[in-house]
Amino acid sequence: MHVTSKRWLSPHWERFVDAAATLGIGRNPDFNGAEQDGAGLLQTTTRAGRRWSAADAFLRPAAKRAGLSVRTGAVAHRIALEDGRAIGVDYARAGKLGQARAEREVILAAGAYGSPQLLMLSGVGPAHHLREHGIDVALEAPAVGEGLQEHPLAFINWRTASLPTLDDATHPKYAAQWLATRRGKPSSTIAEAGIHWRSDPSLPAPDFQILFAPVYFWEHGFRKTGAPAMTIGTAYIGPTSRGSVRLRSADPEDHPRILNNMLTADSEVEACLRAIDLVRELAGTAPLASRLGEELNPGSGIRDRGTLTAWLRATCEHEYHPTCTCRIGPEGEGVVDPELRVHGIESLRVADASVMPRVTSGNTHAPTVMIAERCADFVLGKGPAVKAAEAAAAPATA
Ligand SMILES: Cc1cc2nc3c(=O)[nH]c(=O)nc-3n(C[C@H](O)[C@H](O)[C@H](O)COP(=O)(O)OP(=O)(O)OC[C@H]3O[C@@H](n4cnc5c(N)ncnc54)[C@H](O)[C@@H]3O)c2cc1C
Repeated sequence: MHVTSKRWLSPHWERFVDAAATLGIGRNPDFNGAEQDGAGLLQTTTRAGRRWSAADAFLRPAAKRAGLSVRTGAVAHRIALEDGRAIGVDYARAGKLGQARAEREVILAAGAYGSPQLLMLSGVGPAHHLREHGIDVALEAPAVGEGLQEHPLAFINWRTASLPTLDDATHPKYAAQWLATRRGKPSSTIAEAGIHWRSDPSLPAPDFQILFAPVYFWEHGFRKTGAPAMTIGTAYIGPTSRGSVRLRSADPEDHPRILNNMLTADSEVEACLRAIDLVRELAGTAPLASRLGEELNPGSGIRDRGTLTAWLRATCEHEYHPTCTCRIGPEGEGVVDPELRVHGIESLRVADASVMPRVTSGNTHAPTVMIAERCADFVLGKGPAVKAAEAAAAPATA
């Protein structure tokens, strides 16, 4: 994995960090270091101006291995089960059905939406729900698809007269620059700087990631104003509410039904309102006030708690961090054991964000890669006991 600093930054991020300092929030030069609290620049898993995906990092370097075969454009329909054991994967590709057979085990990695869907399509899930869709129950597993967690994210935006911003980043001249040099605006991953902050000082760790982006970001970036703007988002990284992933039908090509159920508890709404208060305080400090014009969302008219709560509930987005729908836990409560084996089914593991017992208090990509690396250890028989024995046997180093 390549973790790097950004190749293009607006000049405004420093003002954001200075604004934080005005409110007594210190600088943090490395959020991935010992401390998460504080304000500073975000790092990204990019390399030479491009996102560096898990496929770039792990799959491409292994592409020539004799034992590896990759079938793209295939949709897995179900895990083939025989006498309580996973023996392969049934899939469709270019209109044809096929099966990949597993000699040792099947590792499911379809993500927090796809993995529970595939388990349910295979007859592993809440029995009444499977029967609703006419699926034979192979194993009653009530926790499959339960417990979905996300990071609720609210955005506050302002017009700005201070250039540059990323609002024109798709202009052909920037695309040409990026193609030629892998530098410039398209190399940005939008959010430049952040603050990790505790909405209640008695909390053991930050429960908010406050994100600064020099662009109008609203409705997942699909809405444009046509004019330069700036955005500060409040990502709630300590949520408690949970949703679920359920089947819409028994058709594997159908998308599952996703219920995020965010902000169910009043305490979560209170925490988000405190974070929005902080953002408005930041916007009013000397370093930022001169750069921010009219408040576009929620808008200066939306201030009292009742209206702000209604606005939050109506506009809150998710941060593309779905987790926990096949979570690690004891049989009955969880779907997989600590070595990621599905309870009650032999030779089947899950290795993706769905196994997290609760959503991480930070972005989910790197933790998911860590889960995959641990899974590789488990497959190789290097479970926790073996690792501990190896560590104990290793010679001490200075
Ligand atoms: C727009 C966006 C931006 C993000 N930005 C960040 C970020 O900046 N930092 C960060 O840490 N995280 C970010 N994330 C989150 C991060 O990408 C996820 O946490 C991570 O990819 C989860 O990995 P996963 O293996 O659980 O699932 P995925 O990466 O979703 O992998 C699951 C794969 O399974 C495939 N699949 C599912 N069902 C089937 C099926 N039936 N047949 C065949 N294939 C199937 C899917 O197509 C997908 O390729 C972002 C996510 C999105 C969507």
